[in-house]
Amino acid sequence: MPDSGRRQTLQTGEGAVDTPRENAFDTAVVGAGLAGLVAANRLADAGRSVIVLDGLGASGGRARTSLLADHLVNQGPHALYVGGHASRALRHLGVPVEGEAPPTRGTRGLYDDRLHLLPAGPVSLLRTSLLSPVEKMAVGALLARLPRLDPVPLDEVTVADWIDSVTRREAVRNLLAALFRLATYADCPELQSAGAALRQLSMALDDGVLYLHGGWQSLVDGLTTRAVAAGVVFRYDGSVTGILGDSPRLTIRTATEDLSARNAVVAAGGPETAERLTGATGLVEAAGPPTRAAVLDLALDRQPDHQFVLGIDRPVYFSVHGPPARLAPAGQAIASAARYLHPDADDAAGENRSALEDIAAACGVQASSLLADRYLHSMTVAHGTPLAERGGLAGRPGIEAADRPGVLIAGDWVGPEGMLADAAASSAWAAADTLLGTP
Ligand SMILES: Cc1cc2nc3c(=O)[nH]c(=O)nc-3n(C[C@H](O)[C@H](O)[C@H](O)COP(=O)(O)OP(=O)(O)OC[C@H]3O[C@@H](n4cnc5c(N)ncnc54)[C@H](O)[C@@H]3O)c2cc1C
Repeated sequence: MPDSGRRQTLQTGEGAVDTPRENAFDTAVVGAGLAGLVAANRLADAGRSVIVLDGLGASGGRARTSLLADHLVNQGPHALYVGGHASRALRHLGVPVEGEAPPTRGTRGLYDDRLHLLPAGPVSLLRTSLLSPVEKMAVGALLARLPRLDPVPLDEVTVADWIDSVTRREAVRNLLAALFRLATYADCPELQSAGAALRQLSMALDDGVLYLHGGWQSLVDGLTTRAVAAGVVFRYDGSVTGILGDSPRLTIRTATEDLSARNAVVAAGGPETAERLTGATGLVEAAGPPTRAAVLDLALDRQPDHQFVLGIDRPVYFSVHGPPARLAPAGQAIASAARYLHPDADDAAGENRSALEDIAAACGVQASSLLADRYLHSMTVAHGTPLAERGGLAGRPGIEAADRPGVLIAGDWVGPEGMLADAAASSAWAAADTLLGTP
């Protein structure tokens, strides 16, 4: 816990500031999303005094869950990768992860305006009506080979080029592209690194994903409660506007106060904010274009006809998240439709919304079952996309990219490991370990 009661003088870029000693911390974590919460817990466990600052009024960032009618709803469809870095960090910290696998029995593929049975897994895939017998064999063989594929030589190859190299058959190409979209959320095969995408898809197929009981808020609450118990101080009332000076005498400036810290972890969402707060340059370009989606969340008074539908010839997805996860009152359902947005997509809100309404209708969502809906026009799913031209995950900015000793960066666009929340957790863990001297 920080000292209290005494006063000290700080040197900042603008001269001496008289600051209460209670405002001095070992580490200031900027941002109370998953990355900030993981870093704060790790540091506090090692006995460091930590303050977490967020201007949003609460912990959670994009991992928070809200209410839609009486249904719990994440910020768009969220699935936790069981084999990923976020799961590993949560396990290590002892934060319970409880949920259910997605309702993929009876999965349908939306192709040519029709729903086709699309059973999960290489063997059952042979029953789909989407592919000819020869195409079924080709896909089955490819999916079976996937776990043994070495992704390293494919880090600098685009997803589009890799698909070109393995098949010329249109239906198989469409199906592979759809699976990559599902696993990575990205819809830019001409830019995305095949190595990064294949790692992600293999992990999803091998270990599966979970829809979480209580939504991702259960992770946020678990991490926040644990951090408070470990002595972490939270301030939700002011965004950080700058990180001044040099470690070990950093000044963390908010609109209302200056705090003193030896170190800082900037886990404030995307690379623009990291550049603004740390003075670093080039982070936006190195992160690659943000991965974005338009999302329509639907609180329903009954289950629709279909629980899991994947767009094969168009970049859309539909899934009922609760049940299986405990998110909706008994007998009711919460579903999400998403449209994966290409980086160059113009943000045609009306067009995106009607594409989402179309897939919901195709899944059998009836207007009479709709209790409430929420449309999120352009959500940043990840603040970057691993690019083939930068060598994939290894080409993303590192935790030390601010090039300021004691000022580290974390987020879903940082570091050489994982995508989405896994990258956020992995980079946060690495940032904390670097500050602890135990990388
Ligand atoms: C629609 C959608 C679907 C997704 N689905 C999945 C999925 O299925 N699986 C998966 O693994 N991931 C998924 N994700 C991604 C996942 O939600 C994020 O990767 C993760 O939550 C990012 O955590 P973070 O802490 O890095 O960033 P954020 O959650 O963005 O947190 C950053 C925090 O910093 C705060 N902040 C910003 N600027 C300042 C400042 N100047 N001062 C103080 N605080 C500041 C913000 O208020 C925010 O609370 C999805 C995301 C979306 C939007």
